[in-house]
Amino acid sequence: MNAEERTTALRSLIEKLHARVPLYRERMNDRGVTPEDFRSLDDLRRFPFTVKQDLRDNYPYGLLACDRTELARLHVSSGTTGKPTVVGYTRRDLDAWAEAVKNCMATAGVRPDDIVQIAFGYGLFTGGLGIHDGAQALGATVIPASGGFSERQLLLMQDLGTTVIACTPSYALHLADLIDEKGLKLNLRLGIFGAEPWSEELRRKIENRLGITAIDIYGLSEVMGPGVAVECAHQQGLHLEDGLFHAEIIDPETGEPLPEGEEGELVLTTLGKEGMPLLRYRTRDITRILPGRCACGRGGTRIARIRGRSDDMLIIRGVNVYPSQVETALGRVDGLSLHYLLEVSDREGLKELTVCCEPSDHLNRDAAALLARRSQQELLGLLGVRVGFRLVEPGSLSRSEGKAARIRNVA
Ligand SMILES: [Zn+2]
Repeated sequence: MNAEERTTALRSLIEKLHARVPLYRERMNDRGVTPEDFRSLDDLRRFPFTVKQDLRDNYPYGLLACDRTELARLHVSSGTTGKPTVVGYTRRDLDAWAEAVKNCMATAGVRPDDIVQIAFGYGLFTGGLGIHDGAQALGATVIPASGGFSERQLLLMQDLGTTVIACTPSYALHLADLIDEKGLKLNLRLGIFGAEPWSEELRRKIENRLGITAIDIYGLSEVMGPGVAVECAHQQGLHLEDGLFHAEIIDPETGEPLPEGEEGELVLTTLGKEGMPLLRYRTRDITRILPGRCACGRGGTRIARIRGRSDDMLIIRGVNVYPSQVETALGRVDGLSLHYLLEVSDREGLKELTVCCEPSDHLNRDAAALLARRSQQELLGLLGVRVGFRLVEPGSLSRSEGKAARIRNVA
């Protein structure tokens, strides 16, 4: 999609939202802009954002740009606080989504002769069904395993000859533990992992332990689901589905667009979506747009792997800390498992962080003390601030079947 086509697509989206969605009409009025003010890509910054709270405030159907009867499917994400968020898809939206995931699968290296086991949760969450429709459209053999039931996952992998596993990276690490424990020999060659930010160190660990190539896939339910962007075999950033999304990077504090290549919050505008198109949706995900062309030769927009969500960023004695940075530091210490948890406490208004991590094996006291010291040094070096560290018993932290809960607030 060239700049002219992109401008035309954005203009027609803005016209549609102005005509059909009261929230957008009001926001444009508030900002003193009309669809006629959008003449070039540069004008986009004058138009209003959408945030997750808007989906809650307009629950369930307030943001639809089509008639409810035109919807073919509804996905709902449970809110940890307050109302859930609802995303509606028309038949054409579902087809476009399947096509996007199919493209992503192909970019990731999945082939029609692969056996793809999908261990993302099926149901209201977009992960399972999203990957499912795309992998099926590619012509692969799909096993809709859904999340959890790890023993059964292993049985299916072994007996059916699974070659590609799709799940969260934290669940892949858990499966790797079980596969080691049982000494299984599997046919896996590729993993498609997403739905949570993960570090390069965790990637290498999963790749080495499962003997696969681990590919990062990105997406979010509010704009579609998985299939927004994916890595190719070169693992040099994620290729964005350019035909469906327009990406901007903004300063999360000021909301102003940042110069090309700078790191900030990813903002996505959907192109061509019928059911619930979104204008300038603030993803809260921190990344940057990569310059130049990928080694694979594909053109189009490429984003760096997500550093973290701005919501998850902790400020420890004035220093910004993302859980993914903690993971990076832990991954550099031999003898740690990367099953970890961040305990955050509040001491007189100041946040304190203690990192809890399991060692790979049971250790005696001296070895544990040495490992803890090395871990603390690595954390200090990478984060630039001293944080607490505690080794916990192997297997004692809870294992997630979906998105891992990495942060626990303690009194
Ligand atoms: Zn590439």
